[in-house]
Amino acid sequence: MKKHHFALILASLASTAFAQNPTRSVVVVTLDGLRWQEMFGGADEAYFKRDGKGGIDPASKKYAGDTPEARRALLMPFMWKVIAKEGQIFGDPSQQSRSHVTNGLWFSYPGYNEMLSGAADPRVDSNNKVPNPNVTVLEWLNRRPGFEGKVSAFGSWDVLPFILNTDRSRLPVGTGFVPAPDPKTAREREINQLAADLPPYWGYGTFDAPIVYAALEELESRKPRVLYIMLGEGDEWAHESRYDLYLDATRRADRFIERIWATLQSLPEYRDRTTLLVTTDHGRGATVKDWSDHGKDVPAAEDTWMAALGPAVPSLGVRKNLTVTTSQLAATIAAVVGEDFQAAMPKTAAGLPLR
Ligand SMILES: [Zn+2]
Repeated sequence: MKKHHFALILASLASTAFAQNPTRSVVVVTLDGLRWQEMFGGADEAYFKRDGKGGIDPASKKYAGDTPEARRALLMPFMWKVIAKEGQIFGDPSQQSRSHVTNGLWFSYPGYNEMLSGAADPRVDSNNKVPNPNVTVLEWLNRRPGFEGKVSAFGSWDVLPFILNTDRSRLPVGTGFVPAPDPKTAREREINQLAADLPPYWGYGTFDAPIVYAALEELESRKPRVLYIMLGEGDEWAHESRYDLYLDATRRADRFIERIWATLQSLPEYRDRTTLLVTTDHGRGATVKDWSDHGKDVPAAEDTWMAALGPAVPSLGVRKNLTVTTSQLAATIAAVVGEDFQAAMPKTAAGLPLR
């Protein structure tokens, strides 16, 4: 009887341990369409461009290495020197693990809907500016006690306000060419001016850097408890078949993540009280011929990866023998701040098994 009782206590500890150690805040960063191949293996020299005279792509000088471990550390040093050691990484096929989307479409809006609302939805079948019929975990958290007005999002892609259904959710979103949606500080006004002054290379919005700067200013000035940052340049360069610039965008994204983490650790509201989650909305083709593309006609584009760091995330490193889905991110975002999204939204996936 006593033994049985003890086992019950242990079981209940295991199931609630996650919620017992929630953090005050969560920051989610996505890298649009970054393949697991580069995430886990770094740059692949088969993809470097040759100039026909035996010349080498400058990217090969920056990111080439003898082993996958060496190459990925050159491409994403913060991911592999800090998150892989102090946090967790999901989806490494060489460790018999997998991370994948469940939406069957393998492009952006269905991917972001799945990760933020916790389930794939066949109604979300285009990248059109259609208000999301689903309540995302960001919208849901923004209505929870203690989180009201403390949720914000930043992403250059001007579909983001529709993914978050801002008409209904009223979430503040820095997007397009206006990274700071409600500029109050001198720095926010400068960031918006810079975004307007840079070349409008992609018609939908500015480069990733002003978006990240606005998000960092948000952390410093408004102290949100839930912050989402959508980085999109890697996918754009990939679509243009610029492997060199795709790699550079990935290297910059890692630097942004490092800077975000450093900023969090410099502020008492966040230091040792914040969880960082990093993932992607879809993969890409797995060959030199189709790596630039993704979508349901591109085999392999359904595979993704995820990473987590912070006091709610035990240092288990690269997870082995584990399959996870992008739909599990929504419940994870809530769980790390002590909230139960799945209980409120029964059709959604469970959170990631961080323990
Ligand atoms: Zn794309």
